[in-house]
Amino acid sequence: MLRISAEKCLGCGLCVQNCPTDALRLFHEKAHIDTEKCIGCENCISVCPQGAIEPVALTELEELKMKIRSIRQKMEQLSQRVDELRQMKDRRKSSMWGGD
Ligand code: SF4
Ligand code: SF4
Repeated sequence: MLRISAEKCLGCGLCVQNCPTDALRLFHEKAHIDTEKCIGCENCISVCPQGAIEPVALTELEELKMKIRSIRQKMEQLSQRVDELRQMKDRRKSSMWGGD
């Protein structure tokens, strides 16, 4: 779980741009987090020039939920990669046999 300090946040949007799950938004020039989307990668913490984002302790349930979201995201990435590889293989096969 993360906490964003409204006093420190300048609304630069770097955290939003670097969040892989679209969990951050700017609202009235301050970053806000959708904790249901966060996978705890901490990209936002490392890019924030203001040190405005801090981790806060999670309950066991929150930690478990975050791990599940993280696994789900990795599975989606893997599935996309498999699809890409399948398409590449199909294209190669059809070019070898002179198809479209
Ligand atoms: S990177 Fe930091 S300062 Fe910039 S919008 Fe995000 S929280 Fe605010
Ligand atoms: S920890 Fe990762 S997933 Fe969570 S808000 Fe920051 S960049 Fe997004």
